[in-house]
Amino acid sequence: MESLILDKEQINIEADRRWGDILSTLAGDAFESVNGRNKGGPCVFCGGTDRAYKHKDFDSNGVICCRQCKGGDGYAVIMEVNGWDFQEVLARVAKHLGMFIGHPGLEIYKNGDRPPPKRKLEPRPEPPPDDDLPRRKKWIENIWDRTIEDDGRIKTFHKERGLYIPVPPTLRLIKEFPTHFSFDKDKDFGASRHPVIVAQYLFKGEMSGLHILYLDPVKPMKANVKVQRRTLRCVDNLAGSSIQLYETIPDEPLMICEGIESALAMREISNIPVWAAGPRNLMESILIPDYIKAVYIGVDKDLNNGGRESATALAERLYRDYELDFLGTTEPDIELTDGIEKVDWNDYLKRKKEGRI
Ligand SMILES: [Zn+2]
Repeated sequence: MESLILDKEQINIEADRRWGDILSTLAGDAFESVNGRNKGGPCVFCGGTDRAYKHKDFDSNGVICCRQCKGGDGYAVIMEVNGWDFQEVLARVAKHLGMFIGHPGLEIYKNGDRPPPKRKLEPRPEPPPDDDLPRRKKWIENIWDRTIEDDGRIKTFHKERGLYIPVPPTLRLIKEFPTHFSFDKDKDFGASRHPVIVAQYLFKGEMSGLHILYLDPVKPMKANVKVQRRTLRCVDNLAGSSIQLYETIPDEPLMICEGIESALAMREISNIPVWAAGPRNLMESILIPDYIKAVYIGVDKDLNNGGRESATALAERLYRDYELDFLGTTEPDIELTDGIEKVDWNDYLKRKKEGRI
């Protein structure tokens, strides 16, 4: 899969004067056998035994020359030795260099750099304490228990939206769900029923709410109803919760996006664990596991900069509350012109697939 995130030019900048170190780690013997030799050494490309040598600017370009086959640059050497494809080589080199991402528009805060100065945050209104939380919890658990694995509907809907990755098991389906309901009445109001995609909000491993998206009963599109999305909660406040679409992995970065679609697109782009915030106002407060050391924030781009502001607020908070080695935000590289007011990572991915970027 093509990775849109890793950019060779940016990696080249970081790799300058470090190719000896990179190749000795990632290409081992293939490098050691030509390193420090005036006479030629064995060539990984053609198998010649005494014709390979380091280019005079090797430290800056990683090139190993061969008098027989001409040789190749550091990336080619690593590819050849390990059998990795080019994207994997980029990923490994970037990781070795302590960088994870090279997307234009990326802002990286690391090694003690601070994120941009604080904006004034509007205090979030606290909902009134809810005496019915235990009942709400039961209600939400019942809904979740009714969900089934995708029967193909979510997949078809995603395809129609331009997303081709497999539906993660964290997205579940209910075939018929009312558009109007109230948990304390324990009934719906004769409302119309639609298939819905359901995802859990988790707070410290516990279900704290549900995100519900209504689909059209027939066509692979969102339902033509007044409210297409609903957030149900069984806690006073969903602050700190998130939709954890993919499991985090120790030593791997975590990507946080706003919406589920944007997050799925980012998963398709980056192949790293991705979470979604759901509504933008929840983004800033998301809690992450302490073992996570690198976080990217996949920003939505919009004319009023709301996406950037919530991403910055999240970056500031993560910077303050966690010991991260790496924290970066990245924004779709799309200009907001011709009446386009907002783009997310799925818009970016679609354009990329269509060759428009
Ligand atoms: Zn050769």
